[in-house]
Amino acid sequence: MSSQISIHSKLPEAGTTIFTVMSSLAREHGAINLSQGFPNFDLDQDLKRLAQKYIEEGFNQYAPMPGNPLLRQRLAKKMSSAYGTSIDPDTGITITAGATQAIFTAISAFIQPGDEAIIIEPAYDCYAPAILVNGGIAKSYPMLAPANQVDWQKLEELVSPRTKMIIVNNPNNPAGSVFDKADLQALEDISERNDLIVLSDEVYEHLIYDGLEHLSVLGFPKLRQRSIATFSFGKTFHATGWKMGYAVAPEPLMREFRKVHQFNVFSVNHPIQKALADYLEEPERYFSLSSFYQRKRDFLQKALSGTSFKPLQCSGTYFQLYDYSEISSLDDLSFAKWLTENYGVATIPLSPFYINGTDTKLVRICFAKTEETLAAAAKKLQAL
Ligand code: PMP
Ligand code: GLN
Repeated sequence: MSSQISIHSKLPEAGTTIFTVMSSLAREHGAINLSQGFPNFDLDQDLKRLAQKYIEEGFNQYAPMPGNPLLRQRLAKKMSSAYGTSIDPDTGITITAGATQAIFTAISAFIQPGDEAIIIEPAYDCYAPAILVNGGIAKSYPMLAPANQVDWQKLEELVSPRTKMIIVNNPNNPAGSVFDKADLQALEDISERNDLIVLSDEVYEHLIYDGLEHLSVLGFPKLRQRSIATFSFGKTFHATGWKMGYAVAPEPLMREFRKVHQFNVFSVNHPIQKALADYLEEPERYFSLSSFYQRKRDFLQKALSGTSFKPLQCSGTYFQLYDYSEISSLDDLSFAKWLTENYGVATIPLSPFYINGTDTKLVRICFAKTEETLAAAAKKLQAL
C-alpha cells in the first residue's frame, strides 16, 4: 500500500512561465519565435574561442565563491567608466548564475516572512515568486499608460512600516521604458525617507536608444548605499544560455547577499568567468550594443508600419510592445496563442507581467533577431 505524500505548495498559483509556454507553442506550430527574449544569432567568435581556451587550459574546478578576481576588477573598471562610481571589486561585486540567481539571492537575503516588497508593473516575472517563496508580500504599483511612467508620490503611498524593499527594472522589460534623472532622484528620496533596500534590475543597461543614457542606481551616491544592482552577461554578449551575471552592492549589503549565495550556488562557471574577464577589455564590445539594437527596433517598426499593430514607445530593452486592439477583441493570452497557431508568429502577452493578470491588449515582440527573421515575421503579420 502506498502512503500519500502531503505537499503544501509555497507557490500554489504558479504554473509554467509564459516564456516557456510560448516558445513551446512556437515549436509545436513551426512558428517564428519572437516571444522569449533571446537572440537568434550567434555570439562573437572571439568570446567562444576564449571559453574554449580556458576549458583547454584546465580552469575546470570551482571558482572563488564571489567570482574570479580579474573579472571583478574588470567589472569595477567598466562601472567606473560607465557610471562614474568607484566599486571595490573584493567586497562589492559577486558573479552569479545569471541575473535571475542574483535577484533570487538578494530577495532571499533581505525579505523575511511578513515583509513587503514593492514591484512596479508590468514587472518581469521572477520578482513576485521570489518574494512569496521567502514568506514576503509583493505589493504592486501599476505604471501609467501609455508611456509607462511612475508617479513616485503615488508609489510612496504603498509604503507601510512592513515595507523593506522596492524592486525596479530599468530599462524595463516588457515596457521598454527608461528612467530619467528625476525618477532616480525620487527613488533615492523615497528609499532614504522610508529606509528601504532598492533592488535594481539593470540587465538591459546597454540597450538604450535615441541618444538616451542609462542612469544606474550606482551613479547616485546616496541611492547606491542602499541598492543591490543586478546585471546579465547573457543580454550584453548574446549568450543567454550561459546564464552568467553579477550583483553589485555596498559591503554591508553584499556581506548578507554572499551568506545566501554561498549556500545557494557557492560559485559559478569558472572557464566562462575567465573568458568574460578577457573579453571585457574592449569597451566597444558593450558600448556598440545600443546602435546595433536600435537598428533592429527601427527595422521591425518599419516592417510593421502598414499593419494594424500599433507600436508603443520603446526607449530600451530588445522588446517592442504592440497594441492589437484594432485587430481583435480577444484577451491577450488567447490572442498570442491564436496568432501563433494561425499566423505562425509567436509573441508574449502582457498579462503575466501583472500579479492580478491585467489585460492591456498588448503583446511583446522580441527584436533580438536577424533582419531576415524579422522580415519573414512581418510578412506573415501583414496578412492579418
Ligand atoms: N531581469 C530581466 C528584466 C530580464 O528580462 C531577464 C531575462 N533575461 C532577467 C532578469 C534574467 O537574466 P538572466 O538570463 O541573466 O538570468
Ligand atoms: N528574460 C527573457 C524574456 O523576458 C526570458 C527568460 C526566461 O525564459 N526565463 O523573454
